[in-house]
Amino acid sequence: MMDCNDPRCPIHGQVKTRGARLSGLVVSAKAKKTAIVKIDYTIYTYKYERYLRKHSKVAAHNPECINAKSGDLVNLAETRRLSKTKSFAITGIAKPGVQA
Ligand SMILES: [Zn+2]
Repeated sequence: MMDCNDPRCPIHGQVKTRGARLSGLVVSAKAKKTAIVKIDYTIYTYKYERYLRKHSKVAAHNPECINAKSGDLVNLAETRRLSKTKSFAITGIAKPGVQA
């Protein structure tokens, strides 16, 4: 693996991970060192006796050494609040996206 000088990298930096661990799909990696990750989940509704499919979007730190791209399936870990909207960091790519 390349040298990683990212102080907020969850593997090589100073930021600790704790709490929730999620996985989701990267839908945008346009911002520098940030990825928008879509999390799919289901909730059970008693009225309809079925599961409702829901999703949320989470802004996550995308460290230099991982550099996830749009379309990648990634694992996330909760961190301290890194910015106004970021409190998760990408810890690895579970499945790379299909596009080049
Ligand atoms: Zn790193």
